[in-house]
Amino acid sequence: MTSTFQPTIETGSASTTPAPATPAAVDRAEARTAHNYHPLPVVIEHAEGAWMTDVDGRRFLDLLAGYSALNFGHSNPRLVEAARAQLGQLTLTSRAFIHDRFADFCAELGDLCGKDLVLPMNTGAEAVETAIKVARKWGYDVKGVPADAARIIVASGNFHGRTTTIVGFSDDPDARDGFGPFAPGFDTVPYGDLAALEAAITPETVAVLIEPIQGEGGVVLPPDGYLRGVRAACTANNVLFAADEIQAGLGRTGRTFACDHEGVVPDLYVLGKALGGGIVPVSAVVGDRDVLGVLAPGQHGSTFGGNPLACAVGTEVVRMLAGGEFQARAAELGDLMRERLEALLGHGLVGVRVRGLWAGIDIDPALGTGREICERLMARGVLAKDTHGSTIRFAPPLVIEPADLAWGLDQLADVLAEAR
Ligand SMILES: *Cc1c(COP(=O)(O)O)cnc(C)c1O
Repeated sequence: MTSTFQPTIETGSASTTPAPATPAAVDRAEARTAHNYHPLPVVIEHAEGAWMTDVDGRRFLDLLAGYSALNFGHSNPRLVEAARAQLGQLTLTSRAFIHDRFADFCAELGDLCGKDLVLPMNTGAEAVETAIKVARKWGYDVKGVPADAARIIVASGNFHGRTTTIVGFSDDPDARDGFGPFAPGFDTVPYGDLAALEAAITPETVAVLIEPIQGEGGVVLPPDGYLRGVRAACTANNVLFAADEIQAGLGRTGRTFACDHEGVVPDLYVLGKALGGGIVPVSAVVGDRDVLGVLAPGQHGSTFGGNPLACAVGTEVVRMLAGGEFQARAAELGDLMRERLEALLGHGLVGVRVRGLWAGIDIDPALGTGREICERLMARGVLAKDTHGSTIRFAPPLVIEPADLAWGLDQLADVLAEAR
């Protein structure tokens, strides 16, 4: 494996005697902020590739990659150049006018997905909302569902974003409690249970919306054949399959899309995170004309969706993925990560789930919470984030050097050994 993915970064370990992160800088950041996050106490100043440096010059290996938004690494030279060139040219027109970066982005992203049409938005939640609207509109206009009767099947343990509609069909009390009333029209079935999903389909069902791998849930892999079964059930019942690939897609799992692992093509791809190259928020819903074509002017939109800067970066992202090198690298590094993590089963880990360069690990609760382990990792120069309770997710930038990844996982082994 060459280092062409990270041409400007020198590799190596973080400082060997890490001190706690600058308390003053942490306090200042927290003082005037709504506390809807509980960040690790570190204040990052710059970053390149898989390495971040804090305000005191300490280096940290990034094993989160902005929840997969940084699949191509921090300050990826190709993406930064695309953004820089576009900044001096044109940044926003709104969709009232057409700009010269729009056509390529939509055509090339459509080609990557094997679909006709692209509807660009900004954040992931907006793309999910878009998919919900498209599915309902399709249900009424094409499937013939009676007005306002459309239902969408979702899975337990899902994470699709933070809007009021989306948290309404979450089953995470933190995400949902205190934010009702919620939009009706969603039916929840256990994730991975095909029979339950099939049984939940009614004549009013317009779509099944699932993550092909549940990211926030802790990198939860469905049983083999599940996605194929969902596809078949949707086809048989004239229901759309909307795959939320916002975190799983675009190279993370070793394939372009997580659905590719089962050779499954959904009706709607819901994309975000890495599509913006870690530079700007870019999301999209991608589908064929018979589905996405149901929207007419004025029925949906976004002031910033598909803006020139987003399209310039997004097009470069699509071109980088079209070559397949990042997917191959994710698969190869994923094997290394799987081997290292599985070796820790019974030595501090009680669960390991890996697909490509993406892992959910369950810490033996006797050793501490996921948060405590992440704090100990931070003290050793590794940044990762717990998701639920004792589960930690690893999603390193796909450009990470194998030696750095191995070093980061050594730190985990040491932290677990210390805690035992
Ligand atoms: C992050 C995420 C979202 C929401 O994306 P935002 O850009 O934070 O709105 C939706 N679905 C999945 C699977 C995600 O991982």
